[in-house]
Amino acid sequence: MRKEELNSIVASVRAYLDLERESGVEEYYFASDEAVAAACADRPAAVPQGLDELKKEVLACRECDLCQTRTNVVFGAGNPKAKLMFVGEAPGEQEDKQGLPFVGRAGQLLTKIIEAMGLKREDVYIANILKCRPPNNRAPLPAEIIACRNNVKRQVEMINPRVICTLGKFASQTFLNTETPISALRGIFREYNGIKVMPTFHPAYLLRNPDDKKIVWGDMKKVMKELE
Ligand code: SF4
Repeated sequence: MRKEELNSIVASVRAYLDLERESGVEEYYFASDEAVAAACADRPAAVPQGLDELKKEVLACRECDLCQTRTNVVFGAGNPKAKLMFVGEAPGEQEDKQGLPFVGRAGQLLTKIIEAMGLKREDVYIANILKCRPPNNRAPLPAEIIACRNNVKRQVEMINPRVICTLGKFASQTFLNTETPISALRGIFREYNGIKVMPTFHPAYLLRNPDDKKIVWGDMKKVMKELE
């Protein structure tokens, strides 16, 4: 086994145990080889048809006022054939600077969660409802969500994951077409166009409310089971 592989396994186990300890769980669960294989679809020779074209289109988008204040459009990143897709709300400061999703503090926590699931960021696909940063990280406006939501829905259509994990109120309500609060939506599998959707709290919320990490970890265990 190569040193990088060993380091990756150690990081994964460490992240898993951290989350387990924080959630006070005593029963240990490790994803089976089959579950990991199911979640990590083989790398495709080429991205699904249309994803590159969609990216070009979105990078040039000026459909809402956020195009005037953005530094970069944050299209999304990861395995274009992923079985598991995470969808958050909107890019923050770091994401706007780097043009990549979930690379700030909340992103580091999401990475930890993904690794605790026995996966790597490259195994899943990560995107947001809005592709451009709202100034000062304010909440997305309804008009902005309406202008942008078809981009992420087209990404879902092209990637065709088995499970979408919606992070926070805006992503969950957008995919499930509801105004039900995230506290009532989370933890139960819902459906979007035949794809299972697991709503859970956003990692940024968890940074402010670390006691709720155990709730999200419980939701992720359901996702791991579904991917088996
Ligand atoms: S947020 Fe979405 S709709 Fe608005 S400019 Fe950016 S890509 Fe276009």
